[in-house]
Amino acid sequence: MHDVIVIGAGPVGLAAAIEARRAGLTALVIDKGALAQSIVGYPARMEFFSTPDLIEIGGHPFPVQGYKPTREEGLEYYRGVAAREGLELRLYERVIGLRGAHGAFTLVTEKGEHAARHVVVAVGFYDHPNLLNVPGEDLPKVTHYYREPYPYVGQKVAIVGAKNSAAKAALDCHRHGAEVTLLVRGAAVSDKVKYWIKPDLENRIKEGSITACFNTTVTEIRQASVVVQTPDGEREIANDWLLALTGYRPDYAFLGAMGIAVGDDEWQTPVYDEGTFETNRQGVYIAGTVCGGLHTSRWFIENGRFHARQIVAHITGTQAERIAFDRVAWKTQE
Ligand SMILES: Cc1cc2nc3c(=O)[nH]c(=O)nc-3n(C[C@H](O)[C@H](O)[C@H](O)COP(=O)(O)OP(=O)(O)OC[C@H]3O[C@@H](n4cnc5c(N)ncnc54)[C@H](O)[C@@H]3O)c2cc1C
Repeated sequence: MHDVIVIGAGPVGLAAAIEARRAGLTALVIDKGALAQSIVGYPARMEFFSTPDLIEIGGHPFPVQGYKPTREEGLEYYRGVAAREGLELRLYERVIGLRGAHGAFTLVTEKGEHAARHVVVAVGFYDHPNLLNVPGEDLPKVTHYYREPYPYVGQKVAIVGAKNSAAKAALDCHRHGAEVTLLVRGAAVSDKVKYWIKPDLENRIKEGSITACFNTTVTEIRQASVVVQTPDGEREIANDWLLALTGYRPDYAFLGAMGIAVGDDEWQTPVYDEGTFETNRQGVYIAGTVCGGLHTSRWFIENGRFHARQIVAHITGTQAERIAFDRVAWKTQE
């Protein structure tokens, strides 16, 4: 019987397990993938938007080569912290259900069952992309994740999206010899694109080295082309690869399986107490980016890492100073 089982070995889940152990609770962390699986899935050599001090957990300093951490430095850091803290991890074990009640839960996974008094759901949203829902989206040429530019050298690449991931992928592919076409639903590159990325992309578009189609939606994806609806009517664009970088969403079916209700607000926010992060199901807590529902830029590592303190304070019945989470202004990272 574990005092706390944390579902999700991302930065926030790890922070929750560290906080629990420091309060004298036993804690187990279960992840369906690798340690920090979401960060494993980030683009290679991707630079975090945050400086290292803002994504540290457990008070462990995060030394980096440059000004901001890379994906690889992030993975090494979180692996090192988990090892130094001696966290009990079960990786590549998907959680599928939760039976019982507060104080005596049975967590069901694809590999077995685990007993816990309290459960913390820190499952993020990165493995559930917002789909285009058009014919051909399941073709092998389509992906919702950008890894690196080398598969696209000398290829015609269409990138769907207008925010940070799409902007960075477009510039990266362009600079590594791909012929890039940006397909944007809105009238311009999003204002949410970081100030150090936006002008670069806009200048590439202005000079014509990256083609951009604004007010454009994808209606069909074919083997050698993509069909789009533009203000001038339907167009078919020759195409080898399509990167649909259209953001992500929580796994609502999984939240349902955990007994966590979802609000009927526009963001379909999971139901929880913002002071304790306890959900509508007593003894089940929620933490990290998943707390924002569809508002995927509400919580991130910078502020999500503090959820652990509120949760453990509530579990142990001790006072934790209420953290004003809104003090860290964060623009979207999609
Ligand atoms: C490209 C990119 C750059 C970002 N840069 C920053 C940044 O600079 N600063 C910042 O603060 N935030 C940043 N973020 C946002 C966000 O903070 C991160 O996505 C971070 O990973 C969220 O941490 P988390 O622990 O809440 O969730 P995740 O890191 O997504 O962890 C959730 C974990 O839960 C696991 N899981 C899911 N379902 C199950 C299940 N059923 N059973 C078992 N395990 C499960 C997943 O495998 C995953 O490992 C960035 C996001 C992206 C996409």
